[in-house]
Amino acid sequence: TASKDKGCNYNFFTEELSAVIGERHYLESHLAEALDKHEMSVHYQPMICVKTQRVLGAEALIRWNNPILGAVAPDRFINLAEQNGQILALGNFVLRTAMEQARHWRKSFGNDFFIAVNISPVQLRDDNLVSRIAQLLAYYQLPGSALELEITEGVLLQDEKKVAKSLAGLQKLGVSISLDDFGTGYSSLSYLQKYSFDTLKIDRSFITNLMECDQDKELARAIIAMAKKLNLQVVAEGVETPEQHQFIVEEGCDFGQGYLYGKPVPATMFSAQYLSRLVI
Ligand code: C2E
Ligand code: MG
Ligand code: MG
Ligand code: MG
Repeated sequence: TASKDKGCNYNFFTEELSAVIGERHYLESHLAEALDKHEMSVHYQPMICVKTQRVLGAEALIRWNNPILGAVAPDRFINLAEQNGQILALGNFVLRTAMEQARHWRKSFGNDFFIAVNISPVQLRDDNLVSRIAQLLAYYQLPGSALELEITEGVLLQDEKKVAKSLAGLQKLGVSISLDDFGTGYSSLSYLQKYSFDTLKIDRSFITNLMECDQDKELARAIIAMAKKLNLQVVAEGVETPEQHQFIVEEGCDFGQGYLYGKPVPATMFSAQYLSRLVI
């Protein structure tokens, strides 16, 4: 009967829920001490300048390695850290680590090398973000152009005025602002209208099936054409095959990123693999 079904669903639901809460609690309690215990690190994935086929930048991606939990993917703990405020400390750690690395790499990769760092909406709503970035640039003796901040669409929904002001303040420092995972949020186009970006990153989901799906191909093509009309740099993420690479070359993407060129790796491995070497 209906009521019996309801009962079953209810039990099932609470079991699932307590499992979720259990995991959440477990992750959260470990997360709180992860920085102090040096369990966090930053990996770097090459960003390839399509024109020269050289590594011109790197995206910094946080990694958590816990002795009990093993490697915990960012998708499992970033949301949690955003909800409990720990993202501010994690975000600062990534910024400091990546900027120090960028300082070294600009000596070896060249003065146009940049580092891209993902910024959470929570960080963006922090009144101190712009002055903190300015201080970090000064401390690591980097020009603003050495830093790109990647922002995801979902983030920008709240506090529009504050966000716009922070973005403008960062751009005044010479820092580039990139709209990450473009095409997956609900209001991608209205963000382009509201805020001023320097770079648009096409979400991996448009690149993955390019060659098999004419519709994805046309969508990717249209996004690239639109970005160019708006004078934005375009990055294609999730490039895994030579055919996809050929496509982004032909369509005029500025940057490519994906397993074809290289997976995210620790800094020492990054230098060893990519220094003064053509990637393809
Ligand atoms: P994202 O910023 O869109 O980063 C790209 C993600 O796609 C990375 O996953 C990267 O490893 C993966 N990826 C790159 N190329 C390929 C490819 O060719 N194929 C496939 N299948 N995947 C590829 P990762 O490192 O697990 O990070 C996931 C997300 O977590 C990031 O997505 C970003 O939103 C967030 N994240 C990572 N590090 C940070 C951080 O330091 N701060 C914040 N706020 N968020 C971060
Ligand atoms: Mg990103
Ligand atoms: Mg992305
Ligand atoms: Mg993503």
